[in-house]
Amino acid sequence: MLPVQLIRKKRDGGALDDPEIRAFVAGITDGTIPDYQGAAMMMAIFFRGLDDRELATWAEAMTRSGDVLDLSAVARPKIDKHSTGGVGDKISIPLAPAVAACGVAVPMVSGRGLGHTGGTLDKLESIPGFRVDLPSERFAELVGSLGVCLIGQTARIAPADKRLYALRDVTATVESLPMIACSIMSKKLAEGIDGLVIDCKVGRGAFMKTIEDARALCGLMRGIGRRAGKRVTCVLTDMEAPIGRTIGNALEIRESIEVLRGGGPADTRELTYVLGGEMLVLGGAAADAAEGAARIRRALEDGSALEVFRRVVEAQGGDPRVCDSPGSVLPRAKQREEVALRPGRVTAIDSQALGIAAVLLGAGRRTKEDAIDPAAGLVVDAYLGEVIEPGAAPQVVLHHDLAPGDGRLAEARAMIEGAFVIEPADRPAPPPRASRVLEVLREGAP
Ligand code: URA
Repeated sequence: MLPVQLIRKKRDGGALDDPEIRAFVAGITDGTIPDYQGAAMMMAIFFRGLDDRELATWAEAMTRSGDVLDLSAVARPKIDKHSTGGVGDKISIPLAPAVAACGVAVPMVSGRGLGHTGGTLDKLESIPGFRVDLPSERFAELVGSLGVCLIGQTARIAPADKRLYALRDVTATVESLPMIACSIMSKKLAEGIDGLVIDCKVGRGAFMKTIEDARALCGLMRGIGRRAGKRVTCVLTDMEAPIGRTIGNALEIRESIEVLRGGGPADTRELTYVLGGEMLVLGGAAADAAEGAARIRRALEDGSALEVFRRVVEAQGGDPRVCDSPGSVLPRAKQREEVALRPGRVTAIDSQALGIAAVLLGAGRRTKEDAIDPAAGLVVDAYLGEVIEPGAAPQVVLHHDLAPGDGRLAEARAMIEGAFVIEPADRPAPPPRASRVLEVLREGAP
C-alpha cells in the first residue's frame, strides 16, 4: 500500500493492520516517507486514536526501529524509572544508586530538558567531567559491575521516535495519548529492561493536567508493557509545586546529594522512597512497596547509595569529590538576586512559570542550539498553604550570570512574582498536602 492509502485509512477511522504499521514506521525510520506524510499520519492518529492491537504494534515497530540493548549478561533484575517530566525533578539522581545499592540493576537512558521541565542528563553534566555519551558496550559493562549507569539516548535507540517526535512538536500533535505512550515506551523497551516504574506527573507543571488524562496515559503504557512481556507500575504524583527547593542543574545536584546523605526536602525523599520501593518490588528485591520503600530509605541513610553514586560519577568521568563537598566542585553563579513575595497565604504555585523563569536565567534551552548555564536556577522557599509574614526573609533566590540590564532577568522576576497566588492570611488554608503520591497502578491490578 502507498503511504497515502494508509493515511486515508486512518483518517477515515479504519484500523491499520500490523504489516501496514510496520511498513509505515520503517518508512519513517529510513526517510522514504517524507515529513508531510509523517505529519499527516500523526494528525490522523491524533483524531482517530489507535486500538490496543495497533498501539502495541506501533510501539513494537518503534522500539525495533533501532537497537534493543542486550543486557542479558547482567544477572540482576533490570528495572528503570521514567518520569513524564516535572519542575525540579531530580529524583533519578538519588534513586538510581539507591536502587542499585539494594541489589536491582538500573539501566537508565535519560533525556535532556524539554520546555519548562529539566532533564537528568543536563543535571549530571553539571558535575565537572561527567560523560553521558558512553557507547552501549560500556553502558552494559557498568550496569553489570556497578548496578547502574546513566546515559543519553543514542541515535541508535528508537530512531523512529526521534523523527516522529520532531514532527509532532511542530504540528500540534504532541498531545496525542497513544503517541505519547508509544514514544515513551519505545525508548524504554529498547533499554533491555525487565520492568519499569513510570512516575506520571499530574497538574499545572506537568504534561498531564488532569488525573483522568494521567490514568488514561498510564493505561496505554501499561498495556504496551504487558504485550511486550514487561512489568510496568505507574505512580501518579502531584506536580502542583516544584519538587524540593531547587530548580536548575548544579543546584539540583546539590540537593540530590543531600538526599543521598539521608537528608534533603521531605517531598524529594518521599518520592525517592516510593518510586524506589516500587522498583524493588518489580525486581523481586522486596515483598511489597512498604518494605521496598524502607530498604531505599536505609540505603540513603546508611551511606550505601552515596557510595554507589560516587563509583558511578568516577566511572563516568566525573569528579567524585562532588559527593563530599559539592559546594567546592559544582559550578556556582556569580550573581544572586532575591525576590520577596508579598505577605499573605500561598494558595497556589505555578511550577510551569517557575520552570520557565529558570530557563530564562540559563538553566534550560530556549532553542535546541542554546547552551545551558549549569549554575543558573532558583532556590524556592515558599510552600503551598504557608503564611508569609510582613518583613519575612525573601523566599526565592535567583542564581545567574546575566548582565544587570539583560531583559531576561526582569522577565524571570516577573514570572516568579506571578507564579505565586497569595491571598489574605486569614483565608482558610488549602488542606496540608501530606504526600505527593496520588495513586499507584500496580502490575496485576486493574
Ligand atoms: N515524553 C516523551 O518521551 N515523548 C512524548 O511524546 C512526550 C513526553
